[in-house]
Amino acid sequence: MSQDVQARIAQNLARVEERISAACRRANRPRSAVTLVAVSKTRSLDEISAAYACGVQHLGENRAEELQSKVPALAAQWTGEPPRWHMIGHVQSRKARQVVALCHMLHSLDSLSLAARLNCQAEQQAKVLPVLVECNVSGEASKFGFNAWDQDDWPTLAEELAQLTEYRHLAIRGLMTMAPVVKIQEDTRPVFIKLRELRNFVSSALPALDWRELSMGMSDDFEVAVEEGATLVRIGRAIFESW
Ligand SMILES: *Cc1c(COP(=O)(O)O)cnc(C)c1O
Repeated sequence: MSQDVQARIAQNLARVEERISAACRRANRPRSAVTLVAVSKTRSLDEISAAYACGVQHLGENRAEELQSKVPALAAQWTGEPPRWHMIGHVQSRKARQVVALCHMLHSLDSLSLAARLNCQAEQQAKVLPVLVECNVSGEASKFGFNAWDQDDWPTLAEELAQLTEYRHLAIRGLMTMAPVVKIQEDTRPVFIKLRELRNFVSSALPALDWRELSMGMSDDFEVAVEEGATLVRIGRAIFESW
């Protein structure tokens, strides 16, 4: 493995870690309340191994095909506890079986038909898959996820999500969102506040399910997300690219 790659990733991770810690302090949250998911999509096996060597324990991929090739390719390399793989991108139903087999948590549950499919596959594999419900709280047309930008629709959304209580092989853990791309980090704050409020709403509407996790924040906006309650941040470029 190239020393350059290793050094760059180590330095980037230290900087990201510092920024997460500072955001936690500003929000009066313990650092342990936030899990860093290093988004390894498009990165080489060497870069991923380097991140692991620097202590990364959670990896995120957004395409099932990439998860399918990388998980086995890296399996022999782990020297200690293997990392946990997070699926963070849209899953086509024909890929449900592989995703259930390979990931530890799915952040991108974006339809009830996908939920049915995943539940069925998880049952066949005798697994319970932790999942987050992806919600579009910004109203951007390009986004996947349950439509939740209009608060008047939240009761109807909660009724829909009640269906999830029947899926015994899915463990609902919370919500995920992607903020729109903006020039100023601060402009993402309303989106993260809205996801937290939506989480509080579905928690009271559907107390039988566990809604504790909030997956929000990427390279350009994770500090604001942490300040607003993110429990999982998904960071790619700030860890793997040179600045
Ligand atoms: C790529 C991706 C990320 C990470 O984005 P960066 O800007 O590289 O930090 C986070 N979440 C999802 C769903 C992604 O596809």
